[in-house]
Amino acid sequence: MNEALREELQRLMGGDILFDEPLSRHTSMGVGGAAQALAFPGNREQLRDLLSLLGRQNIPYVPVGNWTNLIVRDGGFRGVIIGLKHLHDCKLFRDPAGEYFLQADAGASLSALVNLSAAAGMTGLEFCAGIPGSVGGAVIMNAGAYGREIKDALAELMLMDARGKVRNWPHGQLQFEYRRFILPEKGAVILAATFRLSRGDKEMVREGIAAIRSMRKEKHPLEYRSAGSVFKNPQGQPAGKIIDELGLKGLRIGGVKVSEKHGNFIVNTGEAKARDVLDLIRNIQEKVLRERGIHLETEVITIGEEL
Ligand SMILES: Cc1cc2nc3c(=O)[nH]c(=O)nc-3n(C[C@H](O)[C@H](O)[C@H](O)COP(=O)(O)OP(=O)(O)OC[C@H]3O[C@@H](n4cnc5c(N)ncnc54)[C@H](O)[C@@H]3O)c2cc1C
Repeated sequence: MNEALREELQRLMGGDILFDEPLSRHTSMGVGGAAQALAFPGNREQLRDLLSLLGRQNIPYVPVGNWTNLIVRDGGFRGVIIGLKHLHDCKLFRDPAGEYFLQADAGASLSALVNLSAAAGMTGLEFCAGIPGSVGGAVIMNAGAYGREIKDALAELMLMDARGKVRNWPHGQLQFEYRRFILPEKGAVILAATFRLSRGDKEMVREGIAAIRSMRKEKHPLEYRSAGSVFKNPQGQPAGKIIDELGLKGLRIGGVKVSEKHGNFIVNTGEAKARDVLDLIRNIQEKVLRERGIHLETEVITIGEEL
């Protein structure tokens, strides 16, 4: 990235851009080399102008929400990471037919949505309690827990395409798979999502959320930095159970280990590198393939360059 482009980006973003920023400061796993630039658009217009500049200059970009499902390689990212944390409005509304909805910007946290709907006695998003992601990240990952997924609650999605054009996509035109959403347009950024809710009993909604939070606390190694479940569950069985049965809990490489509490979590024990995480992932995959004939597919998203 040349100096002229840096200056143009700086002008466009004002103070909200960091150059050569180590991404280990941002990923929940605490690993990752530097991005050439990390920009935080303050509104949709600024995001549109940023995408248009990056398009003209042919600069790669990656949108991120809360960084909780991302491994960035140690060589960092050559291009611009677009952090969406400043786009975080959410509102509840009722349509003319009397149905209840929650519309949230991509950078809003799932916990804000859970709290807002619970305070209004609305039901439908309790399963998101304790998932530390943003709305955009949750849609891209079709995040889920306790038998429900984002796609079950989603009514409509607002996308900005790579040229800055905004369009609403009804649920019926969207394609979801297990822990995967197929973006209808390459390079599009999720701007906002609308979820369908129903009126519930306030006390029951609160109790449901509290029960989920406490189950998660008991099962997940929340005392460590991690990116949540590393592998997708292969058909019919939890990946964590297979890892546990093969005696891999506690297995260490460099600054990471397989959590003793939950076999599908790789945790940072202090000085982790992305290399350690990826080596441990490969080690587990090889052992599971050898012993069980199953290929464990990763749920975490890996970006960036090798060192
Ligand atoms: C302790 C812990 C527990 C977890 N528990 C669960 C769980 O129960 N269930 C579950 O499904 N996941 C879980 N996760 C994983 C993670 O929280 C979810 O996948 C979450 O939805 C990711 O959201 P994010 O904002 O952090 O995404 P990020 O990590 O920021 O990004 C994830 C992907 O989405 C893309 N992306 C993000 N925002 C946008 C956008 N606006 N437009 C286009 N692309 C975008 C990124 O480029 C990347 O490919 C857990 C993670 C942790 C650390």
